[in-house]
Amino acid sequence: IGVYTDPQHNLWVDKAEPSAADIQSGTAPGDGEVVVEIRSTGICGSDVHFWHAGRIGPMIVEDKHILVAVHPSVTHLKPGDRVAIEPGIPCHTCAPCLRGRYNGCERVLFRSTPPIPGLLRRYITHPAVWCHKLPPSLSFEDGALLEPLSVALAAVERANLRLGDAALICGAGPIGLVTLLCARAAGAHPIVITDLDARRLAFAESLVPDRVRAVRVTAPDEAPEALAARVVEAMGGVEPDVALECTGAEASIGAAIEAVRFGGTVFVVGVGKSEMQFPFMRLSTREVDLKFQYRYANTWPRAIRLVDAGVLSDVRKLVTHRFPIEDAVRAFETSADPKSGAIKVQITNP
Ligand code: NAD
Repeated sequence: IGVYTDPQHNLWVDKAEPSAADIQSGTAPGDGEVVVEIRSTGICGSDVHFWHAGRIGPMIVEDKHILVAVHPSVTHLKPGDRVAIEPGIPCHTCAPCLRGRYNGCERVLFRSTPPIPGLLRRYITHPAVWCHKLPPSLSFEDGALLEPLSVALAAVERANLRLGDAALICGAGPIGLVTLLCARAAGAHPIVITDLDARRLAFAESLVPDRVRAVRVTAPDEAPEALAARVVEAMGGVEPDVALECTGAEASIGAAIEAVRFGGTVFVVGVGKSEMQFPFMRLSTREVDLKFQYRYANTWPRAIRLVDAGVLSDVRKLVTHRFPIEDAVRAFETSADPKSGAIKVQITNP
């Protein structure tokens, strides 16, 4: 964090107060804002999707943006502080914000969901309140991992996963794996994880040795009942209390619904087709709670404490590839290539 004076990067040059024109043009911070020099940022599945498809549903990439620069009104951070950026900027006035569930903000500006640019840049202007100070034990890269960790913390909390719950995790991508770490930390046992990809399952087993059983899904449309039976068998005959679904695939959600116990919970983190078919009568006659997650709220401070204390420090193992910012395109290509074996690809600005 600091005031930068590099004119090449179009930055606010060491003035006591930025002028209105500076603020207007995005070259200086406004009230309550700071300039952050980005040192590490991660690529997520939606970034790759925007890159390839140019849209996710109604969110469409239409423009290129560059932002930059610090404001004297900010008192809780000082130049030189290391921070993790929480990417959503909620309005603080709509009904979800006022209820504390600011992930539902009706006017949120979210980096990087179009039209709001993301953090893949050298500098960014961001509200100081959404910059969380890192303790010395967390690296910049750890700071960037707090975002996927936040997704999993939100899921484990809202799925009400408790000590001794049998947990099924569907999908061993970055989100499934970080959810696996959170489920282990929450005391879930037994834990089964599913995926189509044997390599990702092997990664999951090495991440949480002795505590997770892997079930390989035979095809994207494997019959949900058959897959559910294999999951219960892998759990030693126990029906999961909670399924944390991290693929967004219709058949996988169906299998989770088929697998959980009477009164169990299927918690869907994965994002998929606009419309899907679920085994309705199974949900109904087994009183299965079907719940969903949209991003996160109030997770960064907890995530920082949990990594700092070592409870979730294994999240670092998810980073399989690193690229300097100049090689960002290669970073995207690696992240998008299933043959690369990449889990989490980080971009650094050394
Ligand atoms: P990813 O694509 O890297 O991983 C998904 C994994 O699911 C892959 O390993 C894939 O092999 C596996 N898979 C796909 N279809 C399957 C099937 N039918 N059965 C079993 N496994 C299957 O994605 P990710 O980054 O790990 O994210 C997981 C999901 O979570 C995505 O849908 C993403 O959009 C979503 N997500 C949601 C939120 C939220 O706020 N709700 C936040 C972040 C990500």
